Amino acid sequence: MPSPLPRSARRMAARLVLGLAAALAPAFGAAELPPSNPAAPAWLPDAVSALTPELAGRYGAGQQARAQRGLRQVAEFWRAGDGDRAAFEAFVRANFAGDPATRDTMFNRFETLCEQLDGHMQEITRAFRQQLDLDLGPVLPFDEQFGAYDPSAHVTDDFFANKLAFVVLLNFPLTTLDERLHDGAGWSRREWAEVRLAERFAKRVPAEVNLALAEADAITGQYIADYNLWMHHLVDADGRRLFPPGMRLLSHWNLRDEIKADYADAHDGLAKQRLIQRAMERIVTQTIPAVVVNNPGVDWNPVSNEVRPAAARDSDPAAVKSTAADATPEPATRYAMLLRLFAAQRQLDAYSPTAPTALARQFDENLQIREEQVDAMIDQILTSPLVPRVARLIESRLGRPLEPFDLWYNGFRPDSQLTEAQLDAQVAAKYPTAAAYQQDIPNLLLKLGFTPEQARYLAANIVVDPARGSGHAMGAEMRTAPAHLRTRVERTGMNYKGYNIAVHEMGHNVEQTFSLNRIDHTLLHGVPNNGFTEALAFVFQGHDLELLGRPQPDARQAAGKTLDDFWSAYEMAGVARVEIEVWRWMYAHPQATPPELRDATVQIARATWNRYFAPVFHRQDVVLLGIYSHMIEIPLYLPNYFVASLVAVQVEAQMRRAGAIGPEFERMAVEGRVTPDLWMVHATGRPVGPEALLTGTEQALATVCQP
Ligand SMILES: [Zn+2]
Repeated sequence: MPSPLPRSARRMAARLVLGLAAALAPAFGAAELPPSNPAAPAWLPDAVSALTPELAGRYGAGQQARAQRGLRQVAEFWRAGDGDRAAFEAFVRANFAGDPATRDTMFNRFETLCEQLDGHMQEITRAFRQQLDLDLGPVLPFDEQFGAYDPSAHVTDDFFANKLAFVVLLNFPLTTLDERLHDGAGWSRREWAEVRLAERFAKRVPAEVNLALAEADAITGQYIADYNLWMHHLVDADGRRLFPPGMRLLSHWNLRDEIKADYADAHDGLAKQRLIQRAMERIVTQTIPAVVVNNPGVDWNPVSNEVRPAAARDSDPAAVKSTAADATPEPATRYAMLLRLFAAQRQLDAYSPTAPTALARQFDENLQIREEQVDAMIDQILTSPLVPRVARLIESRLGRPLEPFDLWYNGFRPDSQLTEAQLDAQVAAKYPTAAAYQQDIPNLLLKLGFTPEQARYLAANIVVDPARGSGHAMGAEMRTAPAHLRTRVERTGMNYKGYNIAVHEMGHNVEQTFSLNRIDHTLLHGVPNNGFTEALAFVFQGHDLELLGRPQPDARQAAGKTLDDFWSAYEMAGVARVEIEVWRWMYAHPQATPPELRDATVQIARATWNRYFAPVFHRQDVVLLGIYSHMIEIPLYLPNYFVASLVAVQVEAQMRRAGAIGPEFERMAVEGRVTPDLWMVHATGRPVGPEALLTGTEQALATVCQP
């Protein structure tokens, strides 16, 4: 499920600088410069024109096309500061690999050395973050600086400065998403690896643009991180406090999770859910009084929007920002933040010639699925005839008509036969320390169907560390380093929550290990996009109770999980659609003010609701689809989450079909970073799409509706 993004995910999203530039452009003759190099020296077109036949003459007519492409790619990025015409010509003559043997040597050397570079950078980062990430005692102020330092921040600049980037651009092809989709299935693995090598240098972004992106990221991240509601200070019309003292919920993640938890509260649950819905709506419309945000000094009725000095104390006095009964609404700050992200992305546009918008970068480069294809998948879910059928089932279980917050209905999830306390006790006894979990890894992997050889190999490549926070997986970037599994271990031993996370992270580590150590080309290591590594981790996590010796879920429980997947995919499709429409609107209205963007977003959220949700919820004009905090923090991450939810179902369905996780897992993971569709065809025989989810939901409805 969507949750606050770990730093590693944000870094990964930022790092996936994929496929750009010149190769799209058959329209450019050798004498013509691509339009994307505003800093090109005047002599460059002539130099390119002269060198193309020279290289073809020297290495044979067979090299003409390669030479032309390579020269065009270098010209795309060459600036006056990189050297004069003589330097350019000398560089090209010295570095064009015109025969296969030289090209092989060049490719192999770059592959080996890129692995060394990435691997050691990752080890430095890991070491510098160790005090922050692990349960190792107090964090001193300078530890934050070590943790924030990114040793690889200037590598791309350095490689343009020392011309290694130009060596790659002269010899290996930059590609567009269209080419990768159209031709990629026919490429050899080596050709794919060459494509990923060239992609590393597909952008040359000036430092001031990177700085603007980093600043926007920091400012919006801070805004979201501090956007809490003090729930004891939400009062209903009778002045009742429905939530306990001290409860502080971060928007929107914790608010949504509280709605989910409130289904179990037979007494006040419904009233609480309605109140949270009103609060969320006021955040989206920015009618929320500014003074109530992250402030336990006032009481607030989200229905009437009345504010009073707090009549109850439940916090440290330092947390109180104001006690003023001031109902002045937040001045569209939420949308000012979004415009900040937009402004930074617009600066980047100029350096992204073939993906010249944030939308194109998200779809073509990050997701590597066409925007129209994602749109079509969203439509398939939103307009599925299964939606009203699942909605009626939820209503029959709730015994009342749906209300808008039932977007987050979670009653399909199978109930555990054991209480959390029983599970905690079992886990603490089994894993008193991180080392105890480490020791058990081979055994856990055998239970998941890995061979003894695989289990031994993987266990030798995974190091378990006690985490300071909730946990994460930190893979290696070179084969000589292990992957790290971080999970929380309390003084009393691991609890069930920590164990559940550990099993998830172990899935990441196994993917990371196979896709780095057992892949044919390290340049292809990894997965097509974030959704794939999450899908593989969910496969592990879904078996955590079986690994504790509990029985496998029965058919009804499995059906419940599928219905839960479907209902959240429906919700994700809605919020992803809203975010895509909002970005399209911003590009169509680049001069918009925060209030204008607020009004447009509210309008888009309402229209999306009225079209796809109102027919089953029987309520008009709901704005809840605009509440996701990701929207304000990371451009266009929600389409990613939506695609990830489909990928997870496809991967799980394949594991079930194959009947074993171990061999399937390695087979899938060593495909590496090709396009999502190619990966999925290799893994399951079908491209990425909602069919597995829709088929599964149809079957699940039949299963649970059986008397
Ligand atoms: Zn994960």
